[in-house]
Amino acid sequence: HADAALSHAKARGRNNVQFYSPQLTAQASHRLMLESELRRGVERQELLLHYQPKFDLATQKLVGAEALMRWCQPQRGMVSPMSFIPLAEETGLIVRMGTWALHESCHAVASWNRERAADPLKIAVNLSARQFAEGHNLVEAVQGALTASACKPEWLELEITESLLLDGSEGVRQSLEALAAMGITIAIDDFGTGYSALGYLTRLPVQTLKIDRSFVSELPHNGKSAELVKAIVSVGRSLNMALVAEGVETAEQAEYLKNAGCHLAQGYLFGRPLEMAAFDKLLSS
Ligand code: C2E
Ligand code: MG
Ligand code: MG
Ligand code: MG
Repeated sequence: HADAALSHAKARGRNNVQFYSPQLTAQASHRLMLESELRRGVERQELLLHYQPKFDLATQKLVGAEALMRWCQPQRGMVSPMSFIPLAEETGLIVRMGTWALHESCHAVASWNRERAADPLKIAVNLSARQFAEGHNLVEAVQGALTASACKPEWLELEITESLLLDGSEGVRQSLEALAAMGITIAIDDFGTGYSALGYLTRLPVQTLKIDRSFVSELPHNGKSAELVKAIVSVGRSLNMALVAEGVETAEQAEYLKNAGCHLAQGYLFGRPLEMAAFDKLLSS
């Protein structure tokens, strides 16, 4: 892309300032358009959740799901969270969207568990740093979602990223303590991709580590990733935490992870994120 821009600029000779400015304007206006579409989309209920099944590696049993947000934009179709979540975070819209996802997820897991004879399922919901900002009352929002759907706190896991913890604010710590005291578990998403300061693991109420897909996808052939995964499992297990591997695509990867001592896994090998109806079907099959 940059190369193309450069050769285009060269082709236009010295007068390349004119080349860049219309492009920047186009980018900015595209962003503004997307932002207003997202705002409208939230109001018009174009958001939905897909649920990716999560399995116990030792017993092969379904243990829960991760809720993943989707935006079904009438003209564009399904927009990836990779493009609309950052926009939602920048604009602050994520706070409303996140509260909606909490309600929707608690409702889903409560409905699954009401009809379930086997062990109750647990649902994992992704949180953004902005939801922890003071004034947004994350703890109240979570409590509200549990109450509204009669969802037990132990059916809910909240996924956060390392960067949130390393920002190290007292408000974040207090929110996490309050959520943990309610019986909700906290997971570190994409573990191993952030910074290497591990001290927070002993200071904060974190119960689950999710091993990032970038390590899992290199198993078992990349020796360095294989050793890194073993080290993460070892840290997690010695701190009495649950380990979840993300992005498991092959039986070999699952086998390696199981032997390494990882408890749970999700990934295309076990199932893609599913619409509610398809997940319901999986449960009744
Ligand atoms: P994440 O939380 O790390 O979610 C895992 C991502 O990996 C999902 O992408 C999932 O569809 C994908 N995935 C799962 N298994 C496999 C696999 O076997 N192979 C490959 N190649 N990919 C796999 P998705 O749904 O596109 O979501 C991307 C990211 O967007 C999420 O990463 C999360 O950070 C964010 N996100 C999604 N939903 C929400 C939400 O409700 N709130 C917030 N704050 N962020 C969300
Ligand atoms: Mg996640
Ligand atoms: Mg993840
Ligand atoms: Mg990831």
